[in-house]
Amino acid sequence: MLAEIKGLNEECGVFAVWGHEKAAEMTYYGLHALQHRGQEGAGIVTTDGKKLHVHKGVGLVNDVFSEDKFSSLKGHAAIGHVRYATQGGGGFENVQPLVFRSQKNSMALAHNGNLVNAHALKSQLEAQGSILQTTSDTEVIAHLIKRSGNVPLEEAIGSALSMIKGAYAFSILTEEQMFIGLDPRGLRPLSIGRLGDAYVVASETCAFDLIGATYEREVKPGELIVIDAEGFRSSQFTSPLQRTLCSMEYVYFSRPDSDLNELNVHASRKTMGKQLALEAPIEADVVTGVPDSSISAAIGFSEAASIPYELGLIKNRYVGRTFIQPSQELREQGVKMKLSAVRGIVEGKRVVMVDDSIVRGTTSRRIVRLLKEAGATEVHVRIASPPIQNPCYYGIDTSTKGELIASHNSIEEIREIIGADSLAFLSTEGLEASIVADRDIKDHGVCQACFTGNYPTEIYPDTVIPAYKD
Ligand code: SF4
Repeated sequence: MLAEIKGLNEECGVFAVWGHEKAAEMTYYGLHALQHRGQEGAGIVTTDGKKLHVHKGVGLVNDVFSEDKFSSLKGHAAIGHVRYATQGGGGFENVQPLVFRSQKNSMALAHNGNLVNAHALKSQLEAQGSILQTTSDTEVIAHLIKRSGNVPLEEAIGSALSMIKGAYAFSILTEEQMFIGLDPRGLRPLSIGRLGDAYVVASETCAFDLIGATYEREVKPGELIVIDAEGFRSSQFTSPLQRTLCSMEYVYFSRPDSDLNELNVHASRKTMGKQLALEAPIEADVVTGVPDSSISAAIGFSEAASIPYELGLIKNRYVGRTFIQPSQELREQGVKMKLSAVRGIVEGKRVVMVDDSIVRGTTSRRIVRLLKEAGATEVHVRIASPPIQNPCYYGIDTSTKGELIASHNSIEEIREIIGADSLAFLSTEGLEASIVADRDIKDHGVCQACFTGNYPTEIYPDTVIPAYKD
């Protein structure tokens, strides 16, 4: 489905390189591959061993970087970031990596996720005299690190991490060292690869493929990695807890060519589609998926149901970004501009329309209408994830509870609102089984809190949903 009209938005992607003569260029390509994780800002910080060099700005990676920018991004190591604007608000001051300079040394920080105790930590820091310049959680982490005083940075980072709660996958760069870490539950994805002798780190493995790097392993929950002139060292800043990697990464956010926690995203979506066909069978003539993220699940559904898969919906690829607008009316127009139903495929047919999720329902209603206007006699909607009933506190903008159609409507009511002939969702058990399969649940379990309301971390009364931080 189309992120900008659906109301589901990823909040960031991180990329890092250590030990490569073209570290900035590699990071630029890596960020390109991660562009789907955030389109509102991008930045790269490099080190040449003596000084940090920074370039960042608002917009797409290509808007922010041009060839002449790379001559100033010197050095053998770099960290980069793409961001979606809602976390901490838009504007240049929140574009990451954030850089903190001091007389002795500087530090750049890039972070994907959301801290559930950020509000309390901010109040504490301000009461102790810290001046926060941005509304971003990343700055909270930086202040906690700086507050540790005259201890080795690795120790200071470990002690800061022991105070923060929530979801975080981060990279930190100083003049001489790089640090990589993941929260104790591994809520967000983070992988390590090799590019020749260089180390690379990315939110998704699709970034490795683009630069020709090979996948090495996942960053482990609760792990802190240090890379410097002495090499690569790993330690646990805390014991790993039950893994709860965001299931929406598999359902919707990540690219199908990425592997997350050693499972290919396309393969997992296909399994979800197969499982959905078993759970909610229907007699129909064709199966179609809503491009792009629902195609894999639609193929799986088609295979399991033995109903032919067809391209019943086509994405209009070159629609301008002008349509990314918050108003409901423009969102509705956006669907029409971005998707077309293929009359030759759906006319006179009973169509199964597979989509990855329903957020507000507006988009589904429009797509059902598009298919019917193109002559579909019946439209059966099958959703390859459970109903989203709760907001996410871990770095995904899912909207507030009130905006989520499934939070206050039964499945039958939703069916009626979107105008489908039938509607069914994948069960939470089916979703978990599609991702965990026969692997150890402790290391491969997933978060399903936006479906179930069972948040894997404590949620504080003042925990803020990222989209509504400002
Ligand atoms: S609440 Fe939903 S979107 Fe948020 S981390 Fe959990 S599964 Fe992902």
